[in-house]
Amino acid sequence: MSYIEPAPIKDKENPLDSMMSRFDEAARLLGISDEIYNILKTPTKQVIVGLPITMDSGKIEVFQGYRVIHSNILGPSKGGIRYDPGVTLNEVQALAAWMTWKCAVVDIPYGGAKGGITCNPREMSAGELERLTRAYTLSMLDVFGPDRDIPAPDMGTGPREMAWLMDEYSKSLGMTVNSVVTGKPLVLGGSLGRVEATGRGVMVCALAGMEKLRINPYKATCAVQGFGNVGSHAARLLHERGVNILAISDMSGAYYNEKGIDIDAAAAYVEQNNRSLEGFTGAEKIPAGDLLTLKVDILVPAAKEDVITEENMHKIEARMIVEGANGPTAAVADAILNNKGILAVPDILANAGGVSVSYFEWVQNRLGYKWTQERIHRRSDRIMREAFEKVYNTSVEYQIPMRIAAYIVAIDKVAKTYTFRGGY
Ligand code: NAD
Repeated sequence: MSYIEPAPIKDKENPLDSMMSRFDEAARLLGISDEIYNILKTPTKQVIVGLPITMDSGKIEVFQGYRVIHSNILGPSKGGIRYDPGVTLNEVQALAAWMTWKCAVVDIPYGGAKGGITCNPREMSAGELERLTRAYTLSMLDVFGPDRDIPAPDMGTGPREMAWLMDEYSKSLGMTVNSVVTGKPLVLGGSLGRVEATGRGVMVCALAGMEKLRINPYKATCAVQGFGNVGSHAARLLHERGVNILAISDMSGAYYNEKGIDIDAAAAYVEQNNRSLEGFTGAEKIPAGDLLTLKVDILVPAAKEDVITEENMHKIEARMIVEGANGPTAAVADAILNNKGILAVPDILANAGGVSVSYFEWVQNRLGYKWTQERIHRRSDRIMREAFEKVYNTSVEYQIPMRIAAYIVAIDKVAKTYTFRGGY
């Protein structure tokens, strides 16, 4: 059975290795068979395309595009499309598998996928990006589909690109198919509540965690790294529920106020200041890395991957970490955080509020109907709370950290579904 020993982390910078080391540990604890293990670790489909695009200069440039469907055992696969110069097949494979586990943890009927194009969207015009998105969509015509594979935004893409994708797909089929993609602008069938969905799920997990640790939200303190979509909504929603946010940060630096930051004032400032906290006077500026090691009850890393690492893991003082970002904790830090008794609510659970509301967008599109914001909040809060309880109870049952418990919940569901459906 040597194949399910926890995999040594060959390359700390390699997202696939980092994901596989946790997957292997959960698979070993669950005792899944060799056959199922091999099925779950192998992507179902991987498509690599070359996309020749005429740039504004008149020159033709060829971009590399990817779509990896990790699994479609639970239903059509779901996952974002990333535009970034650093996109590689390895990264897309890891992110696709993450989506499988994330959808399974929150019990929505989706498999996992991810796409990407190696490009620098910041250096491209809107016209170039539109041609690239349409060419990518055409090349994926037999991959995408409301019952097959449903893309969404990720780094470097947003509602604008999703609108182009939906339009190109619809034109090619000769009918409007808005359920082929989520994260669309509201007028094209986007969902109410999507913008704050991920931050809201982080808030639900933080409150659930506080309950377990018997922390009164009105006496709790919190630091939030990243003040973008996830971080700013998580901070605002926690603040509204009585939590004192002592520190926030973004690319411009970290800002600390021992009495607590006025989050509405910070959000209003960022709105008027080109989405940056630079110059915010409601708090004092501290060295960026210090935010992560503050003595607070709750730490919400909501900026980027690999910020809790070998270098700072010993200095983390929070009682609870709620991972708004994807992969903020390097796999090497897991054991140390656990030994320090820190409750780490893992990314595949904590930031799944976004994909849950994406699922509602798809459901509404298929119904040809629009739900109210109140209904969306109520349903997504319930999904997040139930998933939290399931993962927490699994961690108690197996005496393991919530991260591995989340993988166990997910792998167990996918493996059982596979066993019922059967192979060849
Ligand atoms: P965003 O671009 O809206 O915000 C990112 C924020 O992090 C910005 O304020 C940026 O200035 C800040 N930041 C970047 N590098 C930083 C650093 N080194 N130190 C401090 N701050 C830094 O992105 P987002 O949508 O909020 O996504 C944040 C994370 O959450 C990513 O890991 C993303 O994959 C993950 N996530 C997002 C969603 C979603 O629905 N948006 C869903 C699931 C996971």
